[in-house]
Amino acid sequence: MSGSHADSTQSQDVNSVNVTPDIPIEIVSEEEMALIDAALAAPRCCSPSSSLSLSFASQLQRNARFIHSISFLSKRSFSARTESDIEDLGHLGMTQKRNIIAKSLLDRFRKNRALSVTDVTDTEWCEKKMEFNLLFGSKKVNKVMKVGRARHAELEKEVTEKVKVRVRSTEDIWAVKLFNSITGVNQLLFEGLTRELPILGVIKGVWMVGVIDEIQMPVKETARNPILVDTKTRAQYTLPAESQKRNGRLQLMCYKYMWDNLAADNFPSMQFYDFFSLNSDCILSEEIIEKTSNAGFPAKTLGDLVKYFRNMWNMLPASHNQLLLRYEFQKDQSLLGEEKFAYDYDLFNSQIEVCLEFWKGEREASFTPLEDRWKCRYCQFESVCPAVLKPEITPIPSQTDCNNTPS
Ligand code: SF4
Repeated sequence: MSGSHADSTQSQDVNSVNVTPDIPIEIVSEEEMALIDAALAAPRCCSPSSSLSLSFASQLQRNARFIHSISFLSKRSFSARTESDIEDLGHLGMTQKRNIIAKSLLDRFRKNRALSVTDVTDTEWCEKKMEFNLLFGSKKVNKVMKVGRARHAELEKEVTEKVKVRVRSTEDIWAVKLFNSITGVNQLLFEGLTRELPILGVIKGVWMVGVIDEIQMPVKETARNPILVDTKTRAQYTLPAESQKRNGRLQLMCYKYMWDNLAADNFPSMQFYDFFSLNSDCILSEEIIEKTSNAGFPAKTLGDLVKYFRNMWNMLPASHNQLLLRYEFQKDQSLLGEEKFAYDYDLFNSQIEVCLEFWKGEREASFTPLEDRWKCRYCQFESVCPAVLKPEITPIPSQTDCNNTPS
């Protein structure tokens, strides 16, 4: 038996409704890594940064002074700010200038929204790049990414059937996400396997969302701790560099932390409604009411679904301490290798703290560590990044301290 995932689509008549964006999809980040793999194998002149469209490159050049100014100001986040700091922002209006100084990236770019696990791993990859992405937008999805996405969709299709559902409100959108999580958990409990499972929780006071590629749970054995798996598709027939592996480990450790909290019924419902400005009594759309009823989880309101969500997760044991990264060759889907590693709470804790310092504006964005500066050659912001233009002034990032990898 396969489960079904609802896929939210917004109906035409909801222009006046404040609808929040969907949970970001994890796949893009993974395939971005595949892009980097491909780029690493390509000659230097073919780097993605050299193929930037003229308009994008010139936009970056135009904003180069602005970028330096942001860095300059954020360096002073703990000290008194002067009028000359504000003047460094050049052409921006005064109100905007003050907002930029006062607000953290969380406030500016994730207000009333959760951080995604992809945000966390992208930040670990290079904080400066993450900052550039937020300010200027990231590159479009390319062919390598599309192949990876298609593979993930294929894997999901093996165990679930996607159903389109029209949504009319923010509550409907969240209902669909929770419903997908509930049906995924249900499938795991009965079949011992599910894929693309949405997960939600709070890490160090920050709401986070993610989608776990695959979960395996021994159905007949006594020890039933679910094994969390992440599949990376690779354009090259090689295993990834250490920095890529480290990034994948952080991703899985985020999932484990969130999983164990949900399984222990550590889900702050009231904070959930408050933070996302949701009405727990909001009546869901007819279509959602019908779908939940047909699936055996009859819900009329968002509050009903939150209760099912908590109960279902509470039926699960904590996840296995061993986490599994799987690498697959895009061309023929053969297995390139697997890496099992143990969850390391101290390492996870320090990595998340470093990440959140950046998002909360407690310090300036750091550049990728010196030993990983090869990443810059394939970064779309290479032409404006101080790490490339003025390497002598870019400090060794604090991230280096927590880059020890679990065995
Ligand atoms: S050029 Fe290098 S340091 Fe600068 S944003 Fe890109 S990856 Fe980071």
